[in-house]
Amino acid sequence: MRALVKPGPVRGLEMHRAPVPEIGADDVLIRVKKTGICGTDIHIWQWDDWAARTVPTPLITGHEFAGEIVELGRHVEGLSLGQRCSGEGHLIGKTSRQSRAGKFHLDPETRGIGVNEQGAFAEYLALPAFNVVPLPDTIDDEIGAILDPLGNAVHTALSFDLLGEDVLVTGAGPIGTMAAAVARHAGARHVVITDVNQARLDLAGQVADVRPVNVTTEDLASVFPELGMKQGFDVGLEMSGNQAALDQMVETMVMGGRIALLGIPPGKSPVDWSRIVFKAITIKGVYGREIFETWYKMIAMLENGLDVRRVITHRFSASEYREGFAAMLSGTSGKVVLDWT
Ligand code: NAD
Ligand code: ZN
Repeated sequence: MRALVKPGPVRGLEMHRAPVPEIGADDVLIRVKKTGICGTDIHIWQWDDWAARTVPTPLITGHEFAGEIVELGRHVEGLSLGQRCSGEGHLIGKTSRQSRAGKFHLDPETRGIGVNEQGAFAEYLALPAFNVVPLPDTIDDEIGAILDPLGNAVHTALSFDLLGEDVLVTGAGPIGTMAAAVARHAGARHVVITDVNQARLDLAGQVADVRPVNVTTEDLASVFPELGMKQGFDVGLEMSGNQAALDQMVETMVMGGRIALLGIPPGKSPVDWSRIVFKAITIKGVYGREIFETWYKMIAMLENGLDVRRVITHRFSASEYREGFAAMLSGTSGKVVLDWT
């Protein structure tokens, strides 16, 4: 099969021929149809310090996918050949306290496909049947291929009650933009999204009913009177990993505001803790998706009017992967989807 491989500790990825993976008794074999390129794949492409520390080589990369089940391990029940699916790319252990309590997304032994284990940028993927998420006919393969990052957005956005609340999203990357759409769908009163990149803000405005703010040219607090806000934002979703964005979020929250952090800062960053204490702000770190509650909720929302398709800005065949990564590296794309059929 064709597979997009990190051959060794070098920049870039290469399309190689690799054997179709063999599956164990509890696994399924999935014929991959579409895959999404993630920010994580860009770190792996660029081979930054994180990637060099984390990713073994050679490795088939990629973790955002949709496809069809073509083989079932002998213990697998409840799934069928030909079934369309996406799946959770975090492979969890069964022994930790968190897993035994059913909090699978908090398992400290989590390993990621395309990061620690062989991934989904290939014609076939072996996956534990436990991780498979069947797709209803209403969700096509390209949306199926972006459920992983949509899941990050949904997990973060649903961290706190949003109904009637004024929500600030910092960072209009694909995940921030989808989180803004989710917040709207979940009944937020106003959703404001910030970025320093105008192309990204323009895209966010096309995907979701939001008030975009370019913080390089507009004062964030100036939108308060326009939106009838008295004190500030009730809920903050940090989706940039940028220190200035987090500072600005803390500054513009109401007393008792709630913040969910998904963005990953590049290193240790200073935090004005006294500001957070005196504003009585609740902060929650968010990792991955809730397995499988987030999947349940996002599919339910997609089947009930949540529309994030416009966040997909580029579509390429898998053989054009270089163009796909170039689009991601440009910093102005939304989601980039590769077709493996
Ligand atoms: P992205 O890098 O595409 O988007 C981040 C955006 O933040 C960019 O558009 C950038 O211009 C913007 N930004 C930079 N400085 C800003 C500022 N001062 N104010 C407002 N915006 C600013 O990232 P993405 O793929 O959308 O992912 C969002 C974040 O979530 C990233 O930090 C990513 O590493 C992280 N992430 C975390 C998890 C997790 O499990 N915790 C999973 C996936 C992604
Ligand atoms: Zn991803």
